[in-house]
Amino acid sequence: MSANINQRQNKPSTKFIFITGGVISGLGKGIASASIGKLLESQGIKISLMKCDPYINVDPGTMNPFQHGEVYVTDDGAETDLDLGHYERFTAAYFSKDNNITTGQIYFSVIEKERRGDYLGKTVQVIPHITDEIKNCIRKTAKKQAPDVLIVEIGGTVGDIESQPFLEAIRQLAIEVGSENAINIHVTLVPFIKTAKEIKTKPTQHSVGRLREIGIQPDILLCRTEKNLTEDAREKIALFCNVEKNAVVQALDVKHIYEIPLRFQRQGLDRLIVKKLRLKARKSNLRLWESNVMLRLKKPKTKTTIAVVGKYITLQDAYKSIYEALVHGGIANNAAVEIVKVDSENIEKNGADKYLKNVKGVLIPGGFGKRGIEGKITAVQYAREKLLPFFGICLGMQIAVIDFARHVCGLKKANSTEFEQKTPYPVISLLEEQKKVTVKGGSMRLGLYPCHLQKGTNAYFSYKKEVIHERHRHRYEFNNKYRDLLVKNGLLISGVYRKDNLVEIIELRDHPWFVACQFHPEFKSKPDQAHPLFKHFVAQCVEL
Ligand code: GLN
Repeated sequence: MSANINQRQNKPSTKFIFITGGVISGLGKGIASASIGKLLESQGIKISLMKCDPYINVDPGTMNPFQHGEVYVTDDGAETDLDLGHYERFTAAYFSKDNNITTGQIYFSVIEKERRGDYLGKTVQVIPHITDEIKNCIRKTAKKQAPDVLIVEIGGTVGDIESQPFLEAIRQLAIEVGSENAINIHVTLVPFIKTAKEIKTKPTQHSVGRLREIGIQPDILLCRTEKNLTEDAREKIALFCNVEKNAVVQALDVKHIYEIPLRFQRQGLDRLIVKKLRLKARKSNLRLWESNVMLRLKKPKTKTTIAVVGKYITLQDAYKSIYEALVHGGIANNAAVEIVKVDSENIEKNGADKYLKNVKGVLIPGGFGKRGIEGKITAVQYAREKLLPFFGICLGMQIAVIDFARHVCGLKKANSTEFEQKTPYPVISLLEEQKKVTVKGGSMRLGLYPCHLQKGTNAYFSYKKEVIHERHRHRYEFNNKYRDLLVKNGLLISGVYRKDNLVEIIELRDHPWFVACQFHPEFKSKPDQAHPLFKHFVAQCVEL
């Protein structure tokens, strides 16, 4: 009893929502968590979100996009899970390295402590040492960011071996802070069986059963489903899963993900959470979201078609933030943006015309490695010569520089040393400090850097200010040895990182809109606040 009282005296002022997932992966837990964040934020509640990833990589930075999808970069340069992108897009919050933890990080830190002798001769074990470390990380983020509510999403699916320590940690944490300060929301699947023409609740029952076996009773169920939940199904789920009927919330498939907070609100999910966490109920204001985002998405006045030329285009998640930022650019212009995903290797085989002749603009996103590079160079050349609006991002800027050097300045074999170590014209190359780097993890130029814009350029027109701050994730840079030559031939350098004199944005004068940047603007775009470069790129594509 006394231990409990002590724990209660230590109770943090932050309340917790733990989000778990069941039945299958890919249910959209990240979007559900972000939507819950949005719902609470629109009531004036200060929120933060955190993702716990069960894999052993210290961060997703070393993973292939085919394995993991996009690596999302925060202001402070953390390479994080793409769910943090959803969190930032749906809410007004900006996150940091404290908002994403992995099994790799947890073990790394426990093993470091063990080597230092911090455990004073004890046997170091999953319980309590790993689980304590997880709880400490969650508590530390709560303390540092001091939100009213910290939403903690546990990656993976209940029943996975990897996620067990995280589930045990949140079970303990919920007891420690008390039931009025923590709830569990379980995202599950209610499949529709076509042959039986019926939705089935059994997978959800089993999934909740597994959670209860490890001592977690969900307070709310978010049921992903393609058909409306019948009253019967709701009652059955409530009864067998031991939750109130009004806490069985349906998450029907939607056309636009930004509609999800509104759908949840219509079912009273915000009121339910506020009640369960004993928060002060306030009037919610999602009206702007409804008019500025949803209405424009549903009833656009015009449309455009934009090609994204990359090498991971078969994977929906690899360029997640780019696709979303294009949608935001569309919202800002009252336009539906149709994205045509073009595999750059196909351009290598069949030429650019076949894929780009019907689009109104071309975007080349970031990327690594040699495969598909020549196809991207052909795509930039096509956009430059046909005067199609062009937007290059990170690798996309480097490709634009290579095209310009080769085809405008006559440096025929110009290349980046990333793809051709011995190129005679290394127009993109490594800085001296990057040449010394031997480890792969966390060693790129990462996070926010200031960039000075030149007045009278497209970049300045978009941002309307002289100094901007954007997020980076790359090793290679524009090689200043070629700067004079390229500029003499018509390349415009519109943004520079002054401290190290690094080229951050290039443009072309004799072109309607040709802008390429070394940073990743897509990470800072939101549906109701499109990134200025995406806004103007889409505007140019619509005007054609
Ligand atoms: N591969 C390039 C570099 O490391 C570009 C990276 C990127 O597009 N994120 O510099």
